[in-house]
Amino acid sequence: MLAAAVLLLAAGSTAAASSLHHDLRVRLDPETRRLVASDRLRLRCPCPGTFALLPRLAITQLTIDGVDVPPARTDGQVQLPPLPGPAHTIRVRYRGRLDPPPLDRVPEGPTMSRTGTFLAAAAWYPTFADLPFTYTLRVDVPASQRAVTAGRLEAEAEGGGRWQARYVSDGPAEDLTLVAGPWAMQDRQLGPVRLRTWLHPEIADLATAYLDKLAFFLDLYSAWIGPYPYSAFHVVSVPFPAGLGFPAMTVLGTSVLRLPFIRDTSLGHEVLHAWWGNGIAVDEREGNWAEALTTFMADYTFVEWQGPDAARELRRRWLGDLTLLAPARDVPLAAFRARRHTAEQVVGYHKGALVFLMLRDRIGAEAFTEGLRRFAAAHRFRRAGWSDLRTAFEAASGQQLSAFFAQWVQRPGAPRLRLEAARTDGRRLRFVLTQERPPWSLEVPVLVETTGAPLHQSIRLSDERTIVTIAVREPPRALEIDPDARVLRRLARDEVPPALRHVTLDPSTRALVLGDTGDDREAARLVVGSLLESPPSEHSTDTGLPPGPLVIAGTTATVSRLLAAAGLDPAPAEVSGRGSGRAWATWHPDGSPLVIVTGDDAAALRALARPLPHVAAASWVVFAGARVLARGSWPVAAHPLRAVFSPPSSGARPAPAGAPRRTRERSARSGAVNRHDLETRMASRSACAEASAASRSATLAIASPRCRAILRRSRRTARPRASR
Ligand SMILES: [Zn+2]
Repeated sequence: MLAAAVLLLAAGSTAAASSLHHDLRVRLDPETRRLVASDRLRLRCPCPGTFALLPRLAITQLTIDGVDVPPARTDGQVQLPPLPGPAHTIRVRYRGRLDPPPLDRVPEGPTMSRTGTFLAAAAWYPTFADLPFTYTLRVDVPASQRAVTAGRLEAEAEGGGRWQARYVSDGPAEDLTLVAGPWAMQDRQLGPVRLRTWLHPEIADLATAYLDKLAFFLDLYSAWIGPYPYSAFHVVSVPFPAGLGFPAMTVLGTSVLRLPFIRDTSLGHEVLHAWWGNGIAVDEREGNWAEALTTFMADYTFVEWQGPDAARELRRRWLGDLTLLAPARDVPLAAFRARRHTAEQVVGYHKGALVFLMLRDRIGAEAFTEGLRRFAAAHRFRRAGWSDLRTAFEAASGQQLSAFFAQWVQRPGAPRLRLEAARTDGRRLRFVLTQERPPWSLEVPVLVETTGAPLHQSIRLSDERTIVTIAVREPPRALEIDPDARVLRRLARDEVPPALRHVTLDPSTRALVLGDTGDDREAARLVVGSLLESPPSEHSTDTGLPPGPLVIAGTTATVSRLLAAAGLDPAPAEVSGRGSGRAWATWHPDGSPLVIVTGDDAAALRALARPLPHVAAASWVVFAGARVLARGSWPVAAHPLRAVFSPPSSGARPAPAGAPRRTRERSARSGAVNRHDLETRMASRSACAEASAASRSATLAIASPRCRAILRRSRRTARPRASR
């Protein structure tokens, strides 16, 4: 009850502050794909001189303060005459016929069809740039359809073969998305929040599972951060492959909704965006903090619940990607706005999440949570930046954090540590840690393995060269710097197992396309295109292996011939002779990432184009057609931040390099998610099962009674599941 009162108060006070209100009426006729709309805008001045409306939507009437005005349009912009005075009312009537949605990707503009209407932010209503607004939306669709927005459903009625509904914004909105379809709706009340699924009939049986998970995530984050900022959350299905987040709403393709990891993890990420990114908008001048914080509190947290080994493996993978980032793409967090390619995800999502991890390590979990709560309460329905986060965490922890945030948010790159001259006399351990100029200020964990109990220490580094002496009770056996990979740093190349995705991190990646026929080469080209995010420059084999990051794709026989001619290793045993297609990652002789993809013929190559992007985290994959038969990761080749002491000598020898080549082979699971649309997720077991693991960690307090109930139910029905 208290939460409801706070919510209404916040929505009321900020709505009053908004200077633009839309009163929209929209009629959709999916049979003919026609949209007819009118918008009555109340605008408080100073007033903008233009608004955007898609050129394909014809304006049938424009009135300003009751006077007809001929619409003056250039491209997508409608010019307004000078508007003196404090406030104006503008009425726009418009209509148009929309395209049907594509079935293989997210449409770029508004689309309509019997199977779904998707009107996303792109000027399907009169849009004033950078002006938050409130809205009332009356929508009218055939009775066989329903329509949904992020707002609060205030009224609905059916009659005369039509269904009508009125939605009202909960608070100032940045944009307005309207989706319609022939759905079955299911809902559930969770305190003051209405949970709804709007699913196509063929997947309507998923509704209960989604409502359970929605309730779990809303409970989780409300308890962790503070009240959910909206009055509803909708899960909406569309006929094209999508994974999109909007305020109080996530829009997913019917095929995507069937994937279990979507509701176990991606849904949590999207729900959390109701607080970070939507409820509190990103102040773009300081960079986008919302993806970093959401990744930390959703994706990373879910993996942390699986246990320390899984979390460490994920941190190492993120550090490996950061290590291989092309220098031009290794930008400061403050420069990240949105993810357009994997390299931006490495910085904006993963590096950012590691910064929040280091912050929690530094100030403690309690102060971290208190900082989150202060931040959420202070900036609800406003814009906020990294500096506001800093203020909240400083207040919560009583610590000065300006240097921490300046270093990790403003500075590009990451430190690189070197361990030198590690020695011991059995009672003392002495070593030197160096880093490049200018040095970073770091708190580095150190593990000393002894003949007795292990010794954990933390060392503060602020110089290029730091000499460290540690007294030990029992003779040391080994020394390891940052053994758990908790410090954001660039790894040594030998610490990074090659992975397929590494070639996507550098836009200068080249391609060699091989085959005996034009059709073979065309199929190889398709595979290369699916793996890379920008078209590669193609090289001929006549001039030898081109330098730098490289993809070699072609038929199995032609690729084998090239590898032999270039003096490269043949296909490794893990993939050789298996399946109909295979891909593996290795290092180019010049140290750059090298990925090799082979198919037994053109058809086998073509079959790899769709699944390959979804398994790009692996080091090697074997396919039967488009199905993943097996995949795995290469082991780490060396541990340069580890020194092993061999008694009785006092000198250290480097940690064993190139341990026998063990690969962790994972069970097959083919992905079918549009890589560009669905934010990459860590797979995990069901979120509630993870919450049970959380009972051993600091996140215990957030596992709610509701989750425990779900957990009890799911335990009763639990079946073994392949992990991903
Ligand atoms: Zn996100």
